[in-house]
Amino acid sequence: MSIQEEMPKAYEPGKVEQKWYDFWLEKNYFRAEIDPDKEPFVIILPLFNVTGELHLGHVLVVTLQDIMTRWHRMKGESALWLPGTDHAGIAAQVVVERLLAKEGLDRHQMGREKFTERMYQWAEKCQQTIAEQHHRLGSSCDWSREYFTLDEGPSRAVRTVFVNLYNKGLIYRGERIINWCPRCATALSDLEVEHKELTGHLWYVRYPLAEGNGFITVATTRPETILGDTAVAVNPKDKRFKTMIGKKVVLPAVNREIPIVADEAVDPAFGTGAVKITPAHDPVDFEVSQRQGLSLINILNPDATMNENAGPYTGLDRYACREAIVADLEKDGLLVKIEPYGHSVGHCDRCQTVVEPIASEQWFVKIKPLAEPAIDAVVDGRITIVPSHFTKVYLNWMENIRDWCISRQLWWGHQIPVWYCQDCAELTVAVNEPETCQHCDSANIEQDPDVLDTWFSSALVTHSTLGWPGDTDDLRYFYPTAVMETAYDILFFWVARMIMMGLEDTGDVPFRTVYLHGLIRDERGVKMSKVRGNVLDPIDTLEEYGTDALRFAVIVGTSAGIDSKLSPDKLEAGRNFANKLWNATRFVVRSIEMGQTGTEIQRDLLPTEDRWILSRLNRTVSSVGKLLEDFQFAEAQRQIYEFLWRDFCDWYIELAKVRLRPDAAESPSPMSVLIHVLETSLRLLHPFMPFVTEELWQNLKERLPSGWQTSESVMVAAYPQPDETAVDPESERVMEAMIEIIHSIRNARAQHKVESTRWIEAQVYGGKLTSAIASYSQAIQTLARVRPVTFLEKRREASAGEDVLVLVLKETEVVIPRESMANLEAERKRLQKDIEQTQAAVARLEARLKDKAFLTKAPVVVVDKERQKLMEGKARLEKLRQESI
Ligand SMILES: [Zn+2]
Ligand SMILES: [Zn+2]
Repeated sequence: MSIQEEMPKAYEPGKVEQKWYDFWLEKNYFRAEIDPDKEPFVIILPLFNVTGELHLGHVLVVTLQDIMTRWHRMKGESALWLPGTDHAGIAAQVVVERLLAKEGLDRHQMGREKFTERMYQWAEKCQQTIAEQHHRLGSSCDWSREYFTLDEGPSRAVRTVFVNLYNKGLIYRGERIINWCPRCATALSDLEVEHKELTGHLWYVRYPLAEGNGFITVATTRPETILGDTAVAVNPKDKRFKTMIGKKVVLPAVNREIPIVADEAVDPAFGTGAVKITPAHDPVDFEVSQRQGLSLINILNPDATMNENAGPYTGLDRYACREAIVADLEKDGLLVKIEPYGHSVGHCDRCQTVVEPIASEQWFVKIKPLAEPAIDAVVDGRITIVPSHFTKVYLNWMENIRDWCISRQLWWGHQIPVWYCQDCAELTVAVNEPETCQHCDSANIEQDPDVLDTWFSSALVTHSTLGWPGDTDDLRYFYPTAVMETAYDILFFWVARMIMMGLEDTGDVPFRTVYLHGLIRDERGVKMSKVRGNVLDPIDTLEEYGTDALRFAVIVGTSAGIDSKLSPDKLEAGRNFANKLWNATRFVVRSIEMGQTGTEIQRDLLPTEDRWILSRLNRTVSSVGKLLEDFQFAEAQRQIYEFLWRDFCDWYIELAKVRLRPDAAESPSPMSVLIHVLETSLRLLHPFMPFVTEELWQNLKERLPSGWQTSESVMVAAYPQPDETAVDPESERVMEAMIEIIHSIRNARAQHKVESTRWIEAQVYGGKLTSAIASYSQAIQTLARVRPVTFLEKRREASAGEDVLVLVLKETEVVIPRESMANLEAERKRLQKDIEQTQAAVARLEARLKDKAFLTKAPVVVVDKERQKLMEGKARLEKLRQESI
């Protein structure tokens, strides 16, 4: 790839990003090859949901993973970053259903086949968009291995796992309380329910005893569920109800008799101490019913209207039923009181509809036997979680994990590989579609219409995407993967399940490190959301600032597991950084073009600043390497930034400019060091800001003097390794002192509002460093604009009445006469006034010396004195006039 003849004045990201991405693709650099001589490094891209748009959370994911992948690739490993998309089950189906609704269609009218076709079309479009967005962000994913969870490979893995777990007794079908979304008409797992604190009411209702005149009062937040009650329960130790246990009450509204039972689970302090038991619509009541042998009465249709068990209320919506039943209770004198009551209400994570707990026949994974090895893997350190405090969260969740409801009443997803026989009623559970019943050979079989929870297939991607259940080369070389990098909010949804399934299917952990990043919030710390209107569109942002600036900005201030804020300041800083590097490279490139050449770097012979910049470079390289090992991306980026911005651009290049001047004193050319530091730094920064570094590196490479060994692209060049012998504390000491001196003079100038063009005076006491610093007098003069600068042998003691500013620094001291910093404008005014006064005085003297009366009457001595005064006045005037020019 050839470079323009001359480097443009400014960096224009829009002109180079696409060019380099295409170049990388064309060279096949993203493709990870199986190479036994290399260490594999694998990251599976967290599945991007085919639900549409890219947001800043994705930008952070892509940037973090790209940094890791590019870094490992440059370290010489076979780095595989495996991209893919998830079919996203319910989330995707809800989106497409909404689109269809706009066209006046619904999935039931269309039928399963047509609907699935629409889903595929839509998913394909989204995948294209996602891939394009990745290109824009510079993702170095191995697109040749891209997967989709509904592809044949991953689908086969899903069916295989289902069959294996079923055969082991770890998948079962049973009636349990599940979360039901009436809008989506499907079961949800506990994790798909969002709990919100709402203020509702607590209704106190009297249930009359079947015999005699007594009552028992219960409290409920959902009066309509009275229709599904099959008992009233009290705590066996509660003395208030001792005589009531075993009696019967008549259920209001439907006049059904139900027993009063004693159960330990009842909290005597809640409500009245007696609670209604609705086993079909409450998980705790369901457990009570299992212990007490109570029946289940489901009162809801799938759309949350009341079913035939609701008697007179059949057909009403759940909330209309609530109103009707409360009115009836009041009429019958059974409503004791209503209290406001704050409680947590479950909402569908996807459509925000209030979910109903419903007892329902579903498929479940018996999770405890899978959780135990997954707990061990983290406890014994085969898997490390970063940040470590999430380990406790993980273990706590895993120890209290409940069976996982995996069936969904959806059409989009992996259909459950279970066939029901119409003749013998047995199940056939198989990886490949069977033609007949395994038990009676009947062809009269029908597949379960439900699909699996989308997280079931997501849990397998660390191995299903590498060819499992086949024994493939990819699986043998790339599994287990290295790092699972994802947002902390899907630790349970996804990470925990991958660990369980990975161990179960392969016997080995799916990854060695879990890195959990935080969420990106706006500059005030508010979570970004479309509703709040504080969303920054990544594509607009990268068009405005450039991709590298966006990548830079999302990394600033991130740390594992902690949310970070994105402000325009950070984006500006990223853009300015790219421009700063552009200018620095342009300076080096132009110097080469102007015939400046360097000699071989012989460290012992180099001037102090050369040894200093090499020392700083190596310290930075060493530190960045350690930080990256430690997943401290923001700090690594900050140190590279500090080094390049301050040490290299602000100091070293400025000093080099002094040396490259035609009138510079005899000193070795800084060119070799300039080129070496710049070239190394571009490699160091490349994983963070890939586009600008490639553009600059290629520009530099084109003009390198012969003898420089480089590769074809910075992305396949070697990542810098520290050279400990380059660390030079003495040169650092001198340069830090020098920088401090210049800084302090600049600060003093700023504080005293000295015009930037004005030269001031300064005296420097350098202590033990005097001779080293004195050799920089020209640089100090140029960079601090001081003339003259003098070096003191001894610490200066200001004498009385002397107006000087003394700056006491770490090892040195700077003395500036205040006079030399005086404000020029004020001085000009003062001078002007002085001139006017002197002029007036001169005029007066001239007039007097022309006055004949004065000349004749006054004594000669007086006249001579006046003449003397006039001469002095004229001389002073002349001097003042010269000063004012
Ligand atoms: Zn829903
Ligand atoms: Zn059969």
